Amino acid sequence: MSELLSAYAKVAGQDAVSKLQQLAAPMKGKKFVHVNSTRVGGGVAEILMKMVPLMNELGIDTSWEVITGEDKFYQCTKSMHNALQGDQVDIADDLLKAYEETNFKNAEELRPILEETDYVIIHDPQPAPLLSLCPNRRGKWVWRCHIDASKPHPPVWNYLSQYVKDYDASYFSLADYAQQLPHTQYLIPPSIDPLSEKNMDLDQSEIESVYEEFDLDRSRPIMLQVSRYDRFKDPIGVIEAYKFVKESMPEIQLVLAGGGATDDPEGEEVLREVRESAGDDPDIHILLLPPDAHVTINALQRASDIILQKSLKEGFGLTVTEAMWKGKPVIGGNTGGIRLQIVNHHTGFLVDTPEGAALRIQDLLQNPDKMEEIGKNAKEYVRENFLNTRHLREILSLFTILDNQSKT
Ligand code: UDP
Repeated sequence: MSELLSAYAKVAGQDAVSKLQQLAAPMKGKKFVHVNSTRVGGGVAEILMKMVPLMNELGIDTSWEVITGEDKFYQCTKSMHNALQGDQVDIADDLLKAYEETNFKNAEELRPILEETDYVIIHDPQPAPLLSLCPNRRGKWVWRCHIDASKPHPPVWNYLSQYVKDYDASYFSLADYAQQLPHTQYLIPPSIDPLSEKNMDLDQSEIESVYEEFDLDRSRPIMLQVSRYDRFKDPIGVIEAYKFVKESMPEIQLVLAGGGATDDPEGEEVLREVRESAGDDPDIHILLLPPDAHVTINALQRASDIILQKSLKEGFGLTVTEAMWKGKPVIGGNTGGIRLQIVNHHTGFLVDTPEGAALRIQDLLQNPDKMEEIGKNAKEYVRENFLNTRHLREILSLFTILDNQSKT
């Protein structure tokens, strides 16, 4: 077995790797392409960065293509994202036109590759029209929706579904997100890579370096939320929770660590709101990190006592998985994929309000044993359910099913 596969076997178990090898064997040498709209920032890029090399290691000829566009395209897809998550926003015709034209332009470039590919996964709404623009495709095409689309704004879903309906299958992170579609829909939650810079074990000195780098007092408790500056991540709610806790525990420190994704145009505005809400409190640290700050985020997660992910909507929430993998107690918004990961009171805590979050923070800080126990449970829960070996096994199984269907 290669060095890389052995390393996965060490963390996830030999059985997990053997299953992958079995499923990959009939796909050896076949072409597999993932398409999304950003190479950095956000959960999809995070997953693909490590999944693509793992697939190649298993002998599947895998590549990752990224579609690009101008401002109007990203404005459109951001609105679409928000509308799929339930915002009642209608999208202006000129933005939809930019969406269609951008896909048309990208298809000109990608068509020769995509039409020859055996297995294609199109991630999220941004590149969804590509299938309709590759009429001579010969492979199996699957649409992967990473968004909490349980209650989409109907006009926007109706528009998007005209592109999605022709895929061979689609898959979602949660059963709740399934939609009315004429093909089979699968449930495959995402995952983290335990060997990535974001999640690998770190030396104590690497962990400690963040105290100095970000001017944190290591003798006082630290709570952290890592997220793009996005309203659905509720950074303002996190600051409110911190302010409640601060009244009775003035020693508490808060770190909000985020950066932008190239396909997210709203970040700057949200960051402004966050800075305003934080005021001049020296114990609130608002960090703007570059997209490759994986080790820094890893170290911040390990250096913190409690991790928050107080999202109001969350497709899955890789930041939750990452923190749980580091044995940290996570307090998460009671929504979407966070509910799949946090078994309330066992692998973390689910909260609905900043006050609720504050109560949990206070309780945990007063009970170090509880913090440790929850953290331990969280790590094992991730090992069993949310590592990329499980994730890839389910993706390969899905394409095996599609292959078998077309043989019968
Ligand atoms: N992330 C990062 N830098 C940041 C903010 C987030 O590297 O400044 C990473 C984070 O560690 C996680 C991913 O981006 O791996 C975010 O995925 P998640 O599912 O939590 O949210 P999304 O951004 O996809 O909505």
